[in-house]
Order: sequence, then C-alpha cells, then structure tokens
Amino acid sequence: MDALQGLTPAAMVERFPELSLAEARRVTAAILRLGTSALDAPLPQLRRGSMAALRERGHVPALTLRSARRSGFDGFEKYLFEGADGALIESVRIPLEQPRRFSLCVSSQVGCALACAFCATGRMGLRRNLEAWEIVDQVIQARARLPAGTRIHGVVFQGMGEPMANLDRVLAAIAAFSEPSGLAIDARAITVCTSGLPSGIRRLAEEAPRVRLGLSIASALPKVRRSLMPIEGAHPLAEVIAAAIEHAQKTRLAPMLAVTLLRGVNDSAEDAAALAALVLDFTARAGVRPRLTLIPYNSIGGEGEGDAEPFERCDAAAEGAFREVLVAAGVFAHRRYSGGGEVGAACGQLAALG
Ligand code: SF4
Repeated sequence: MDALQGLTPAAMVERFPELSLAEARRVTAAILRLGTSALDAPLPQLRRGSMAALRERGHVPALTLRSARRSGFDGFEKYLFEGADGALIESVRIPLEQPRRFSLCVSSQVGCALACAFCATGRMGLRRNLEAWEIVDQVIQARARLPAGTRIHGVVFQGMGEPMANLDRVLAAIAAFSEPSGLAIDARAITVCTSGLPSGIRRLAEEAPRVRLGLSIASALPKVRRSLMPIEGAHPLAEVIAAAIEHAQKTRLAPMLAVTLLRGVNDSAEDAAALAALVLDFTARAGVRPRLTLIPYNSIGGEGEGDAEPFERCDAAAEGAFREVLVAAGVFAHRRYSGGGEVGAACGQLAALG
C-alpha cells in the first residue's frame, strides 16, 4: 500500500496512472482537509475507476498525537507525536510577529547522530529517519488545531534531526508543502537548518532554490566549534561556508547563521571578532549579507540523572559585550526569541520526553 500523505499531485499520478492531474489535485486537497478519512467516502468529481484504484492500492497514514502543550506565556505550542513503531516525534508551533500567522518547527529524524553538545536531541543518538509523509503530517495536524482565522505561514526544519542527512524525504516534504493545491506554503517561508553538510547545502540550492538556508555555527573559532559540534571534524566550517556561499550565489537568498551563546564557552571577545570577520567575508564573497542570530541557551539538564547542567546561559552583560564587538566591526545580530521554555519547546530542548 502506498502512503498517500506527503505526495504532490504529479507524484500521485506517477503512482496511480488511472488518475488525471486534476483528480490528483482534488485528492491532495481532500487529504489535507480530511486527513485519514479522505478516502472513506467517494470524492466529488473523481471517476469511479480512479477512486477504486486509490482505495485498493493507497492509504492515508497519520501520526498519533500524544500531547499538545501550550505555553501560558507566549503562545508556543509543542506537539508530541507517535509513529506506528512507537517512535516519538516533536514539533513546535511558533507565533510570528505578523498577527494570525504561525511557523511550524518540524522534525526530520527521530533523534540525531550529530551530537551537538548544547542540544537535547543530540543526546538521543539517531533512531531513524522520518518518512516524507511523517514530516508533512506534522504540519497537517498542527494546521487542524489552528485557532480560527489563523494559518501556518512557514515551516522551519529545526526540530529533531539533521535535515541534510535525510534530504530525499525532506525535499519530498518541501514539494508537498509548497504544492498550490495542497498546503500552498511559499517556498521562501521554508527554512532548512543544518549543522553543516556541504553536499546537502549544494543539493538544496539545486533542487529547492527558493527555500532558505540556516546554518548552526556555534563558533567561528575552529577549536571552540569542534568542542561543541563534532561535525566540525568531518566538515570544517570553512568548507561549510564555501558551500553556503555557493548556495547564496545561486539562490540570491541570504542564509541565517545561528549561534547559541554559552557563558564562558563561545562568548569571548575573540569569538565575537571571529564571527564578525566571518559575516563580513561571507558578505563580500557571496554578495548577500547573512542574517546573524544569537540564540540564548535553553536548559537541557544533565546527561544522567543528578548530573549538572552542561552549560549556562550568557548573562545580559556578557551578551552586551559580545554585541559591542560585533557592532564595532559593523555587524548587527538579531536575538532569537526562544519561547516555549516552560513546555520544553525552546531551541535545543526537543528530546521526545513529552
Ligand atoms: S543541533 Fe541539530 S544537528 Fe546538532 S544534535 Fe541537535 S538536532 Fe542534531
């Protein structure tokens, strides 16, 4: 049986040649509207043979929503889903500055192999990749829970997992998100965030050139970065930045560069100066200025029970001093509002613990 969720009309026609493209568009729209019950009753304007083929060889799967926890402070909502194999998957609905719009932070893997030191998901190890439909279903189900008059405007691949390590399925999900007869999310409102896999960055530019790129930097100093992100050993930042510059040159989109600030670890003046130099060099070579975002560290607890928290959040004075070095070099940094902390929905906190 083919899992129909997450397919574009063109892909559906390929699997079900009985369908016309117009019929496949109607089926896509019905799945988004009705979910698993989409094929229960005959769909209007669908020929009998087409409907029979869909029922015979296709089905509409769905993740099971285990919990939805809304922050009382800032409107973030965290979802915990369960796959058929018991895998736990998290997503976070993020209110945007524009009224009545949300972005959904989605997961692309169960766990993650890359073990960034400041991330709870990295401690889980990689359990498995998500299927394309499992990525798409996170948006479908979040959409079904939207308050009246609101919508999912964008999607950010910054939940559990390294999206570039599951890129075939991530690209299939992106195609489904931006399909006009489906979720109709503008590709420019979709961001794929990576810890830095150069071949994936190049492929994203080729195959989804309207999608934005986010890069987790942690530090522009190789030694500090390596201590926080083991991926630096396999793909040094210079190599990752070269791929990101190619991406920017091809797409003309400025990437987002993210740094999670950790007290006494990557918040030194030397770190800030190296970061400023990286941003200026990127701008000169790529012709677009990256958007630098500083993310406050969110608690992930100790590794084992009773273990101490591995890092501390940078205080206002240290963050101010860091910014001063950036500003003196002519670099402005945004501060990510990292909400949902009290429901474990903030950046770095997703670890499928409920
Ligand atoms: S920050 Fe991203 S790449 Fe790093 S361990 Fe966490 S999920 Fe994986």
